[in-house]
Amino acid sequence: SKPVVAIVGRPNVGKSTLFNYITGRRISITEDTPGITRDRIYAEAEWRGRKFTLIDTGGIEPDTDDYIKKMMLRQAELAMETADVIIFLLDMKTGLTAADNDVAAMLRKSKKPVIVAVNKVDNIGELPPDAYEFYNLGMGDFYPISSVHGLGIGELLDAVFEYF
Ligand code: GDP
Ligand code: MG
Repeated sequence: SKPVVAIVGRPNVGKSTLFNYITGRRISITEDTPGITRDRIYAEAEWRGRKFTLIDTGGIEPDTDDYIKKMMLRQAELAMETADVIIFLLDMKTGLTAADNDVAAMLRKSKKPVIVAVNKVDNIGELPPDAYEFYNLGMGDFYPISSVHGLGIGELLDAVFEYF
């Protein structure tokens, strides 16, 4: 069967934007529309002629802190169970947050491979000095990407495919 890749991260890091870019579809909603709940979204994607299933976790959830945290961690847990490889997505524009650390703590318990990507690096080659704070997660190196501009995503998918 096809390998499964899940995109995991706190709200607003750009999971749905990355999902849409990779799948070439606009099926995942990227707007911040509070009050709407959606399940995980699955799509078939292809890279270098090989098909895989991509999962966008999180969806859009009511904008209350408790709910978001609970859902975020639950979605991360489900993704860990389902996926062969997990893309842990972070946000260069906001930097590392407490919610990122919550997700990281859960992913560290997973036996699945986790690949860290830092999104919203819209000028690749110009990694800001504070990017180094992401090493504080203790999850090793990370891939700088821009989901809006489609930068760095080939390198990221090559890294994902090494685990298939
Ligand atoms: P999600 O909650 O993790 O699914 O995040 P979304 O995909 O909905 O994106 C949240 C916001 O970040 C939206 O306004 C996106 O347009 C924006 N965004 C996503 N990727 C990038 C990126 O690579 N660069 C920039 N500048 N903004 C991005
Ligand atoms: Mg989303």
